[in-house]
Amino acid sequence: MNKEQLLTSLEGFAHPSVISAMSRVPREMFLPDLLQSRAYDDTPLPIGRGQTISAPHMVAIMCTILDLQPGMNVLEVGGGSGYHAAVMAELVRPGGHVYAVERIAELAEAARSNLARAGVENVTVIHSDGSLGLPEHAPYDRISVAATAPSIPEPLKQQLKSGGKMVLPVGRDSQELYLVTRKNGFSVERKMGVIFVPLIGQEGFKEREIEII
Ligand code: SAM
Repeated sequence: MNKEQLLTSLEGFAHPSVISAMSRVPREMFLPDLLQSRAYDDTPLPIGRGQTISAPHMVAIMCTILDLQPGMNVLEVGGGSGYHAAVMAELVRPGGHVYAVERIAELAEAARSNLARAGVENVTVIHSDGSLGLPEHAPYDRISVAATAPSIPEPLKQQLKSGGKMVLPVGRDSQELYLVTRKNGFSVERKMGVIFVPLIGQEGFKEREIEII
């Protein structure tokens, strides 16, 4: 697929503002050199250390569900290559910021250089355990989690603003994408079946558990 074909294929389920944001983010700049030619295939691709850049349709769906608006303060858990954070950063401009947390130091460093190369200025990549959220920049209007959790991590719920929304995959063998909304308590909506790599951390899976996922 080329970029135009990919963007056309997203019409119908992705919000036009999300498609427009994705048209402005060069996915090839978030991929290893050998995979450049596959940048606009609608599939996850390896980015090293056993991790993947999410498929474009999944980025589009998660951004559409979150209804990102200019000025918002956003947390991404599982920054990976930095691509999904870059798309969200486009959607919250002007005035908004994305904090992307990644547990693998090498990937966090690569994400920083990918984002700089792509000219994205409103994303900060932090190397830490995102299952605990990022209390120093909370509360967040939106939280996007790109790795599947055993259950909804309590610290992430507590770091949502009132009226805030979080999208995250939950489950091990069978995973579902949840939308959590904080408004007079928390409501949880199940959106669709998905496949993500595990969220590994204090409020996620333990490293010893992941072989059996
Ligand atoms: N959003 C990414 C992108 O656009 O490239 C793709 C993310 S990849 C599907 C999931 C990422 O979550 C991996 O890079 C993995 O290392 C990371 N991860 C897993 N557990 C984590 C945790 N507790 N905190 C932060 N990152 C975590």
